[in-house]
Amino acid sequence: MTTVGILGGGQLARMMALAGAPLGLRFLVMDTAADACAGQFAPMVVGDYRDEAALTEFASRVDVATFDFENVPAESAEWLAGRIPVFPNPRALAMAQDRLAEKTLFRELDIPVPAFAAVDSRAALQAAIAEVGTPCILKTRRLGYDGKGQFRIKSPADLDAAWDALGAQATTVGLIVEGFVAFERELSVVAVRSREGEFRTWPLTENWHVDGVLSASLAPATADDALIARAVDHARKLAEALDYVGVFALELFCRDGELLANELAPRVHNSGHWTLEGSETSQFQNHLRAVLGLPLGDTRMLGQACMLNWIGAMPDALPVLDEPGGHWHDYGKSPRVGRKVGHATLRADTQEVLAEALQRVGVALGREAQVAPVIERLRG
Ligand code: ATP
Ligand code: MG
Ligand code: MG
Repeated sequence: MTTVGILGGGQLARMMALAGAPLGLRFLVMDTAADACAGQFAPMVVGDYRDEAALTEFASRVDVATFDFENVPAESAEWLAGRIPVFPNPRALAMAQDRLAEKTLFRELDIPVPAFAAVDSRAALQAAIAEVGTPCILKTRRLGYDGKGQFRIKSPADLDAAWDALGAQATTVGLIVEGFVAFERELSVVAVRSREGEFRTWPLTENWHVDGVLSASLAPATADDALIARAVDHARKLAEALDYVGVFALELFCRDGELLANELAPRVHNSGHWTLEGSETSQFQNHLRAVLGLPLGDTRMLGQACMLNWIGAMPDALPVLDEPGGHWHDYGKSPRVGRKVGHATLRADTQEVLAEALQRVGVALGREAQVAPVIERLRG
């Protein structure tokens, strides 16, 4: 019996454990919170990721370790990797934890990125705004997620407000200024690489964010073959440069037919949740196959799929369950403003049937605004 250890016990770990059950896998989750939602399906070690006693217990009970949370301290990942196999490797994790290191690597690999500059003082912020130009965004280099730790700078006059908001973190997690990209679309490549170096991607996904948090994903994204090939090529270069094993997502901005890389998420990704019902093999199952050295499953998709995130509180499930291609995911979390508590996936054989289902669900749940951009794209 193989036991997979997962650092971080959120919904990603929970969906990994559910996807691994048919493979006969056992799981052990480590999280700092005793009520982490993956704990409803897997035994847990509760403790700080830097606590050697907790890490020792975790390592002694698992055959291989992976992550649901990219901000596990890189030293802890290294410590574990000295004792048990850890995938993705800690170097890839460390690179993806730091927006400056990540953008520097993108550039080295000839993957276009928005303009950026590192910031370690108020004077450096002023220089960075002048260099990158406005509008731009000040972001923490580390620990940001769901758009947290970001301040939008519309003009140089916003210097003081930006520094007041994030300046204290310049010497702790570090700061970076990025040019604001007036993109037409956001896309992601969800990809998997095996221990032997086999590389596969799911169809390109289009994503819509509200207040920095993913709201909806649509697959396949409508894009021409050349653009898809470029996106896949960027992901492949990154996977190979990092000797990456497992699933990751590359987030891209599309502007005037040009792709600019935003960030790499070194784990299964919210924009790949649709693969649970929309593809032959889900991202969760393929991630497990990759880290265990098993053959990868086919990533082809079945028709069209749209994922809708539920943020804050779960809506009524019935309108989704009433749909022929409707699938419901409740993460078993208590409601909280801004928190991802669940999602739904609607699947259909054609774009028009999917658009009609989204329309019905949007009206029934009073979420017309959430489904509107997806319907507009489908009816393009
Ligand atoms: P997550 O890890 O949850 O995806 P995050 O906190 O790491 O989020 P980003 O992905 O950097 O944050 O930003 C969240 C969203 O904010 C992006 O998906 C995009 O919609 C918007 N955004 C971020 N950076 C830029 C940029 N340079 N130009 C335009 N929009 C941006
Ligand atoms: Mg991120
Ligand atoms: Mg992001």
